[in-house]
Amino acid sequence: MKPSARLVVILLASTQALASACHIHDHYSDVIDVCGYYPADPIYGSLTPECRKRLMEVIEYNEDSWEDAPPGLQDAVTAAFQALIGYPLAKPPGNKVFSLAPADAGAFPLDFYRIFEEWPDLNQSIFNYVLNQFDTIKYEPPNELNEHFGAEATIAFSYNLRQMTIFDGFYEGPDPVFSYNNFIRAGSLVHEARHGDGITHEPCDERAEKYDGVFECDADFLGPHGLETAYLGFLLHGSGVSRFGEPRLLTESQIRSIGRAMCRNIKMFILNPFDEVAELLKDVDCDEIDAEWVIQHEGLLQ
Ligand SMILES: [Zn+2]
Repeated sequence: MKPSARLVVILLASTQALASACHIHDHYSDVIDVCGYYPADPIYGSLTPECRKRLMEVIEYNEDSWEDAPPGLQDAVTAAFQALIGYPLAKPPGNKVFSLAPADAGAFPLDFYRIFEEWPDLNQSIFNYVLNQFDTIKYEPPNELNEHFGAEATIAFSYNLRQMTIFDGFYEGPDPVFSYNNFIRAGSLVHEARHGDGITHEPCDERAEKYDGVFECDADFLGPHGLETAYLGFLLHGSGVSRFGEPRLLTESQIRSIGRAMCRNIKMFILNPFDEVAELLKDVDCDEIDAEWVIQHEGLLQ
């Protein structure tokens, strides 16, 4: 069992560099006219030629590095960015996760609401946040170092260059049980963007199974796993509920895979989840929960 798009953070320079490399641009408004649609293909997403072209203009790909990438990998990254735009997000009632929260403020840190509310629209906010966190997105072929994290995307900060590195594992993930799809990939982009705020991981414990002792976990919900979980929760509430009598945008299998990813994030990679949610997940096998469980516990009933 292996998480599909975790992250290794390599701090090559002081965090000072991060602060100096902050730009804010409304990329969303540059692409929304052609990229605001629901992709037909739930696994790989589907990029229209117009949206693909426009996103390629705003995403800072290191093109030289992508020449070595397997076919389709770069499109999978681009499609994940489209998913951030196309599928509506909504705040969960009471700022909760699985309908639980430790405090009146809710489960997700209020910091996250500043991220999600920086622009008038939630999708606009998260898409701009992710894009603005990186100066370049490069591909790295398999090697000894990333082999250990073969299914992971990596972010490295060096000098003034904020860089996200994508490995082969970003495409399909190593674990068929995990139902890797476009939304899980989009969640990985959000995860890595949070590293762009200078937040690194700490060593996991035995709950993370093969990642025990590996610097892949967060102390609490404030880190990359928490923001990724918040995004997935927002996705469930924006696209996993019936709106205006229309069917849900997300299929049951998508809801299941999103719920499983949230469950795994909390149970394996957040070292100190709050008591209520720890209690809920104590005897839950995240890889076994079904859409009904997710719908019920997130309160997505039609
Ligand atoms: Zn990470």
